[in-house]
Amino acid sequence: MSISSGPADLDAWRGLPALQQPDWDDPDEVRAVAAELAAQPPLVFAGECDQLKAQLADVARGEAFVLQGGDCAETFDGSNADAVKNKLKTLLQMAVVLTYAASVPVVKIGRMAGQYAKPRSKPVEVRDGVELPAYRGDAVNGLGFDAESRRNDPHRLLKAYHCSAVTLNLCRAFTKGGYADLRQVHAWNQDFVAQSPAGRRYERVAGEIDRALTFMKACGVNPEEFHGVEFYSSHEALLLEYERALTRVDHLSGLPYDVSAHFLWLGERTRQLDGAHVEFLRHIRNPIGVKLGPTTTADDALALIDRLNPEGEPGRLTFITRMGAGKVRDALPALIEKVHQSGAPVAWICDPMHGNTFEAPSGHKTRRLDDVLDELAGFFEVHRALGTHPGGIHIEFTGDDVTECVGGGQGLVEGDLHQRYETACDPRLNRGQSLDLAFMVAELYRK
Ligand code: PEP
Ligand code: MN
Repeated sequence: MSISSGPADLDAWRGLPALQQPDWDDPDEVRAVAAELAAQPPLVFAGECDQLKAQLADVARGEAFVLQGGDCAETFDGSNADAVKNKLKTLLQMAVVLTYAASVPVVKIGRMAGQYAKPRSKPVEVRDGVELPAYRGDAVNGLGFDAESRRNDPHRLLKAYHCSAVTLNLCRAFTKGGYADLRQVHAWNQDFVAQSPAGRRYERVAGEIDRALTFMKACGVNPEEFHGVEFYSSHEALLLEYERALTRVDHLSGLPYDVSAHFLWLGERTRQLDGAHVEFLRHIRNPIGVKLGPTTTADDALALIDRLNPEGEPGRLTFITRMGAGKVRDALPALIEKVHQSGAPVAWICDPMHGNTFEAPSGHKTRRLDDVLDELAGFFEVHRALGTHPGGIHIEFTGDDVTECVGGGQGLVEGDLHQRYETACDPRLNRGQSLDLAFMVAELYRK
C-alpha cells in the first residue's frame, strides 16, 4: 500500500466514522476557529519530528529507552511556570535515574503541551441525580459540574493552541536554558530530598553523578550533551478538526506534518482500522503511536502496521501496550511474537496505568503503584522471554505532591485519597511514586 499524502488525503478522514468527536452547536463557528488555527505558527518543526523519529528507530533497534509522561488531562490553569517546572523536574529526575542506573539513552517525551482532549466511556456524567454532558478535556468544555461549563465551545480549541504554545515555550526554556544541565542534578531534588525515601535514594545517585562529572571535567571531557536535554511534546490525536488545522506541508520535504506536537498517538477507543483517526494519522509524517489494550489480536496489530507504516520506516510507529497487571503476561506474547516475525520495525512501550484503574470505596478513581509495577514487570518478562526489546514506559504523573494513586515509599492508602485529589481525569503518580517507579524500572532494565 503506498501513501501519497497530498492535501486531499489530509481530508480523506472526513468521509469516515470519527468516534469521540464533540457535538458542536454551530458548524460555521467550528469552521471559523479551524481557519484561525490554520493561520497560526507551528508549535513544532518537521526537522524536530524527524529527529525524534530517528531516536525512536534507535528504540525499536534496542538501543534507547522512551520515558513518556505527564497529566492524563492537562488543564488551561496548569499552563503556568510552577506546574510545568515541577513536571519537567520530575521527568528529568526519572530520566537521570534510568540513564545512570540502567546505562541506556533515554528519549524524553512529555505528555505535555497539547493533552487537552479526552475520550470518554460515557457521553454523560450523573451526580446526585443530575445528568450533564461528560467533561471532554479543556479543549472542548469545562470541568465544573454545571450546564454552562459542560457546553462544548469551539473557541476552547484556540485556547488549547495558546496554552500548548505557552507550555512548550516553558519546556524549551527549562530544558535548553541551563536548568536541565546535569550539574543541576541536586537542584532538581532540593525541595524534595528530606521528605521522602525516593528523594533520599535519588540524592545518592545524584552524588555519584556529580563525582563522575567532576572526574570527567578534570580529564577535559565536558560535552554539550551534559548542558541540556532534548525534550519532545506529545498528546492523543483525538480532535481531528484541531489536528487537521495544525497540519502543514513542510517546505523542505514537501511532506505533511501535524505541527501541534512532535509525537501523536491514537487511543484504545479510536484505533479502528476503517475509522477516521487511523486515516488521518496515515498521512502525517510525524512519529506516531497506537495504544493496544488486552483485546487486541496479533492480526489487529499487523493490520495497523500495514496501514500506518506500510513502508516499514524505522521510528515511525510505536505500540503502547496497556493490558493490565493481570493480563499482560497472557495477552502480550502473541502480539509481540507475530509482529516481530513480520520484521516490522516497531518500538514497544508499556503504559502500566490504563489497565489498572479502579474505584476506591470513597468513589475516587485510583491505581495501586504495586499493580502498575507488576504490569511493568510483566512487560519486561515477556520481552526478555521473546528476545525483544522493552522500549519504554508511558505514564501519568505530576510533579506535585498529590494523593491520587495508592502505595509507594510514602505509604499512601485509600483513606488518604481525599487529601490532595486534583486530577481533571485519571489518577496520576505523584513525584515520590514517579521516582519509586523509575528506580524499579532501572532495576528491571538491568536484569
Ligand atoms: C489515556 O491515555 O488517557 C487514555 C484514555 O488511554 P487509552 O486510550 O489507552 O484508554
Ligand atoms: Mn488517562
